[in-house]
Amino acid sequence: MTSIRIGHGYDVHRLVENRDLILGGVKIEHTLGLLGHSDADVLLHAISDSLLGALALGDIGKHFPDTDSRYKGADSLKLLIAVYGLIKEQGYRIVNLDATVLAQKPKLAPHIPAMRQNIASALECSVEQISVKATTEEKLGFTGKEEGIAAHAVCLIEKI
Ligand code: ZN
Repeated sequence: MTSIRIGHGYDVHRLVENRDLILGGVKIEHTLGLLGHSDADVLLHAISDSLLGALALGDIGKHFPDTDSRYKGADSLKLLIAVYGLIKEQGYRIVNLDATVLAQKPKLAPHIPAMRQNIASALECSVEQISVKATTEEKLGFTGKEEGIAAHAVCLIEKI
């Protein structure tokens, strides 16, 4: 395999009442939270899928099926660490990663430094290698109507 590989990930979760909102491993105060079998951390799921995609290893649904009770309420930071283990097994490390969260509410900017720190720690790299951005979709579509939150991620990995 070539020494540099690129990966892309995309994920969506529905916003509902009586669930915590956890993004990038940060619990954020909000009236709604994301629904899912795990903690539904849509940002970490998109990032995990980008890493798996870089090595054509499928997606997190394949590695951590939602039919498996072991992953009920799972901490997605632990899933990300497990995914990174698969990347390391093949002799790769992170060059950089760039992610965007699409959410109408709440304001995410104050939480981004903590998200970057969590992700950098999980991926054993520096925060300068990890970019997290947030945007709204101008009240359009499912994110704009606050029905859900989506996240995109791209990563570059290199063979050590
Ligand atoms: Zn997900």
